[in-house]
Amino acid sequence: MTLAQHGAIIIGAGVAGLSTALYLQRAGISVAVIDPLPPAGGASFGNAGLLSPDTAVPIALPGMLRKVPGWLADPLGPLSIRPSYFPHALPWLMRWIGSGRMQRVMAISDAMRALHRDTLDCWKELLGPSVYGSLIRPSGQVQVWEQEAENASAQLERRLRERHGIRADPLTADDLRQMFPGIARQVTRGLLVPGNGYTVSPRRSVHTLGELFCQEGGVLINERAMKLIPRAEGGWMVMTNVANRSSGQVVVAAGAWSRQLLDPLGIKVPLETERGYHAMLFEPEVSLSLPISNKTRAFGMTPMEDGLRVAGTVEIAGLDAPPNEERAKILVQHARRMFPALKGEKVRYWMGFRPSTPDSLPILGGAPDRDGLYFVFGHGHFGMSGGPPSGRLVARMMTGQAPGIDPTPYAAQRFGAR
Ligand SMILES: Cc1cc2nc3c(=O)[nH]c(=O)nc-3n(C[C@H](O)[C@H](O)[C@H](O)COP(=O)(O)OP(=O)(O)OC[C@H]3O[C@@H](n4cnc5c(N)ncnc54)[C@H](O)[C@@H]3O)c2cc1C
Repeated sequence: MTLAQHGAIIIGAGVAGLSTALYLQRAGISVAVIDPLPPAGGASFGNAGLLSPDTAVPIALPGMLRKVPGWLADPLGPLSIRPSYFPHALPWLMRWIGSGRMQRVMAISDAMRALHRDTLDCWKELLGPSVYGSLIRPSGQVQVWEQEAENASAQLERRLRERHGIRADPLTADDLRQMFPGIARQVTRGLLVPGNGYTVSPRRSVHTLGELFCQEGGVLINERAMKLIPRAEGGWMVMTNVANRSSGQVVVAAGAWSRQLLDPLGIKVPLETERGYHAMLFEPEVSLSLPISNKTRAFGMTPMEDGLRVAGTVEIAGLDAPPNEERAKILVQHARRMFPALKGEKVRYWMGFRPSTPDSLPILGGAPDRDGLYFVFGHGHFGMSGGPPSGRLVARMMTGQAPGIDPTPYAAQRFGAR
C-alpha cells in the first residue's frame, strides 16, 4: 500500500461531489475525487433533470401521515415500503413525520429556498455559458392536477411560493391542451412556474462536470473508499480498496452511501434512501416542450435529448434489495393515462438511490468536532438543483470565504450528531 497526499479528497463523483470539487479546484486547491464508478454512476444518472430555483416545499407536510395508509394500499400509489425493511426505516420515518409540523415546515422552506435560488447561476458558472446553453433549458416547468379543487397540500404550496415571491401562473384546461396537445381530459388545471428549468441530460451534465474538473487539473481516482481514519498528526487517511490516501481536508459526498463511511467514526446522521425509478422512452411519439409534473399521481415527464423520461415514486427498501421494476412500469401506465398517444415499446427501466434526510435539507459543512472532515450529502429529491449551490457553499466554507448564505440550517449538528 502507498500513502498518496492530496490537497483535498472528495469521496463521490455525483453532482454533489463534482460540484464541490470544481469550486475547490478553482479556488486553488489540488483536489482528488474518489469513486469506483465514472461520473454520474449514482442517483445523478437517472433523475428527472428538473432544475428548480423555486425549491421551497418540503417533502413532509402537515396532514401527510393521514395519506400514507392510502398510498401504501394502492399498487399504483407513489409510496411503497418493503415490510422486511420497515423496522430499519422506522426511526427515520418518525423524524420525517416530526419535520412535517407547520412550525418546522416554514423554517425548512426558508432554508430550501435560500440554498436553491441560485441553482441555474451555479450550473452556468460551473459549465460555462456555451456548454450550459447546450445542456440546460430555462424553460419553466408545469405542474398539473386531475381534480378541480385545490387540496390542503396545494394550498400550503401556494402559501410557501407566495412567502418567497415565486411566480406561478395558473393554467386552465384549455391552456394545457394548447401547451400539451393530446393531454387527457382528466387533467383539469395546472401552474406554470417560469423561473424553473431542466437539463436535457442529467448524465451528460454531471459527466461534463467531471471532464471540466480533470481539464482544470483535478484527478479522478477509480477506487472505493473503505474507511476514514483520523491521523495523529492531523488530517485524514482514506483507506481505499487499493491505496492509502491522505489529506488535511476530506469531503464525504457519497450520496446514499455516505452513512457507511460515518457510522464507524461514531457520527450518526439520519440518512435513508428513498429509492426512485425512471422509464426512459426512446421513441415516445409524444413530444413535450417543457417538463410536466402530475401532482395528483406524483410523477413527472421530462423531454430529454434521447427521449422522454417518466420519473418518480418513492420506495423505502434500503440499499441492498434488488429493484422492483414493476414500480417503473407503473410510471409508464401513469404517463399513458395522461397522454393516450404515448408509445412505450423501446424503454429502459432504471432505479436510483435518493440520499434523503427526514427534513428535506441536505447535510452540509464541517463534521462536528472533527477538523478537516466535511459533508455534502443528503439532497434527497432535489440534488440536481441543490448539488451545485451546495458545492459552492461548502467550498467557500473550506477556503475561508464568506459563505453567502447562513449555513446553520444544513449543519449535521441539527440532528444532534457528534
Ligand atoms: C427517480 C429520481 C428522480 C429525481 N429527480 C430529480 C430532479 O428532477 N431534480 C433534482 O434536483 N433532483 C432529482 N433527484 C435527486 C437527485 O438525483 C439526487 O439528489 C442527486 O443525484 C444526489 O447526488 P449525489 O452526488 O449526492 O449522489 P449520487 O449521484 O448517488 O453520487 C454518489 C456517488 O458516491 C459514490 N460512492 C458511494 N460510496 C462510495 C465509496 N465508499 N467510495 C467512493 N465513492 C463512493 C457512488 O458510486 C456515486 O457515484 C431525483 C432522484 C431520483 C432517484
